[in-house]
Amino acid sequence: MSTPHDVQTEAYPYDAPASADLFERARSVTPGGVNSPVRAFRAVGGTPRFMASGSGPWITDVDGRRYVDLVSSWGPMILGHAHPAVVAAVTEAASRGFSFGTPTGGEVELATEIVERAGVEQVRLVNSGTEAVLSAIRLARGATGRSVVVKFAGCYHGHVDALLAAAGSGVATLGLPDTPGVTPGAAADTVVLPYNDVAALEAVFAERGSEIAVVATEAAAGNMGVVPPLDGFNAQLRRITAEHGALLLVDEVMTGFRVSRSGWRGHEHYDADLVTFGKVMGGGLPAAAFGGRAELMQQLAPLGPVYQAGTLAGNPVAVAAGLTTLRHCTDEVYARCDEVAAVLSGAVAEALTAAGVAHTLQSAGSMFSVFFVPDGRAVRDYDDARTQETAQHTAFFHSMLAAGVYLPPSAFESWFVNAAMDDEAVQHVLDALPAAARAAAAAAPGTAPAVSHDAQALQP
Ligand code: PLP
Repeated sequence: MSTPHDVQTEAYPYDAPASADLFERARSVTPGGVNSPVRAFRAVGGTPRFMASGSGPWITDVDGRRYVDLVSSWGPMILGHAHPAVVAAVTEAASRGFSFGTPTGGEVELATEIVERAGVEQVRLVNSGTEAVLSAIRLARGATGRSVVVKFAGCYHGHVDALLAAAGSGVATLGLPDTPGVTPGAAADTVVLPYNDVAALEAVFAERGSEIAVVATEAAAGNMGVVPPLDGFNAQLRRITAEHGALLLVDEVMTGFRVSRSGWRGHEHYDADLVTFGKVMGGGLPAAAFGGRAELMQQLAPLGPVYQAGTLAGNPVAVAAGLTTLRHCTDEVYARCDEVAAVLSGAVAEALTAAGVAHTLQSAGSMFSVFFVPDGRAVRDYDDARTQETAQHTAFFHSMLAAGVYLPPSAFESWFVNAAMDDEAVQHVLDALPAAARAAAAAAPGTAPAVSHDAQALQP
């Protein structure tokens, strides 16, 4: 019997036998063969590449093929792979013991670094962005005594029950409108609004203002592709929440310490009650945080009544990776990321235009993505993002992969550059673009390949 996976492999014959072999074994012991859905290549077809190592801007798979990495572990690897200072710090920390279940000095230093950079008074360290957001939501509900959470369609905040409605990222890729396992009760307290729509938020507050505990937003949306906030959108969220006694949760898990030394709020200043961090601040190891004003954070246990805890929270090895990464995130690092992003995004647009492919390129700092939208219009929200020709993304992706460039295997994700991208790595990407643009042109509507890679059709 043919499975969706078999269909994929017919369309994209294996040229990665060692990855294919591992994937086969993985699928028998792990659901879908992966530990996070987008890694499975289901939206683009073909065999996910199993990586063996990384160095600087390059990653190498188990078949020995090298790729310039434009995923950077979905953001954390801003210094590139196996940065010598981070390797040394992690090795040194590990040699002193992996975990004690007691406070350690490194936690104080990492918290101090975050507080100083990101303009929050206190932070608590956790293990993942998901955990940071769910803890911040609990704190917001505990502090306000209210239940309702407002989020924006296409914004992803991790797989937090209350926020898995109209989420982007893997949920967008897989076309899951919602997920079984989230109870009607959990979803009932979530209101989903269109991103960048102040009028919709005003209307909800006019009707239910006294029930709303918190409005959660990505600082700049990067999980439906990159959709920056319109001028003044975030400031309006601040104003409206404050007027109604609700809290504003700004999720900087993706943008934090990536788009500037202090995150998105280094580009656009406005106050937030709660801010969540992850990715870069863990340097590639599991670490994340949430923070805010001291008076609010002190409502957490052990000082306050809102319970939150973690066996491995503030793990010394993860803290060493994060602290060393942040300390190496200098102005030069951000300048290089901005420069590489500008060169690459400009070249992508040029190649697609030359091949006659309608598209829109959008960026938020050094994060950017290409939308294969039919008329090349601006993408302002999730509805716009979903008008993409995903078959064109698939063709583009596979051409780049074959040429040794690793892009996000989904049309709904940001590309992430890193500061280790030297001129050779940049040139390698530039050289691959014309053929990929022609492949995208050949996959335009009406000329699409026989096999559909529509995300919905690939649902088992
Ligand atoms: N929030 C945002 C904005 C994210 O982009 C992500 C992950 O991509 C998360 C939260 C969840 O983080 P994690 O995958 O570490 O749980």
